[in-house]
Amino acid sequence: MDRTTLGDFELTILSDGNYYMDGGAMFGVVPKVMWEKRITPDERNNIPMGLNSLLIRTGSHNVLVETGIGSKLSEKSRSIYRNRALLMKNFEVAGISPDEIDVVINTHLHFDHCGWNTYYKDGKPVPTFPRATYYVQAGEVEHAHEQHERDRVSYMTDNYDPLIQSEQMKLLRGDAEIVPGVSVKVYPGHTRNLQAVIVRSGGKVAAYPSDLVSDAKHLDPTWVLGYDLYPLESIDNKHRFYELAIPEQWLVVFTHDHELPWAYLELGEKGRPVTRDIRQK
Ligand SMILES: [Zn+2]
Repeated sequence: MDRTTLGDFELTILSDGNYYMDGGAMFGVVPKVMWEKRITPDERNNIPMGLNSLLIRTGSHNVLVETGIGSKLSEKSRSIYRNRALLMKNFEVAGISPDEIDVVINTHLHFDHCGWNTYYKDGKPVPTFPRATYYVQAGEVEHAHEQHERDRVSYMTDNYDPLIQSEQMKLLRGDAEIVPGVSVKVYPGHTRNLQAVIVRSGGKVAAYPSDLVSDAKHLDPTWVLGYDLYPLESIDNKHRFYELAIPEQWLVVFTHDHELPWAYLELGEKGRPVTRDIRQK
């Protein structure tokens, strides 16, 4: 289990286990001969991906960023994604109960970021984190409700509609501080309203950019996901993110990296961002 401190805060990675996605879809227009040097696809052209949630213990609040894929997928979907739904098990390993979570932040509402928001009890979706206030951008909910043919398969209403109806989920309009030291910042590209989470304590900063920079294989600004709705904005916003994250030495948490959950970034030989693993420090 990866754990570190950031100023007065404690940060822990809680994984929902690996899953598998089509490599071509993850790398978009990048030719396979280039991306397969970074990660080897299997016989289905799938690549392993992580589902890294971030637990922030500030001393006064326990904040959970993202909730993985969860336990509600159909058998057919489970056979496609081969996900393992390990988040609750990893809560136990970390010695924290879902009842202790005060805040859940979803960066967006794709099924692989908010799956454990709820689970099925007697066939009905109920909140996994009963005491928590959940946060997402209102614009993301509006897009999810559109059920656009391009990406409706990515949105499972049971992950958020019950929480919106009960008002346990709060809808934000733009950047906001959620609790002291934990704020969200909108970086459009993957979706129109994707929000990154920025954590500040004792002069140190950590960031969870979510699918803006999903893993260490996607650091190049132009290596954006095939899923991105606004790829040009993804590129601009990756630059904008790096302009702060690199000089200010942010600890960057990767939502989908199955090997490296977090790292500092620095500029490599060709002026491209590269990682510095905090575990090698
Ligand atoms: Zn996504």
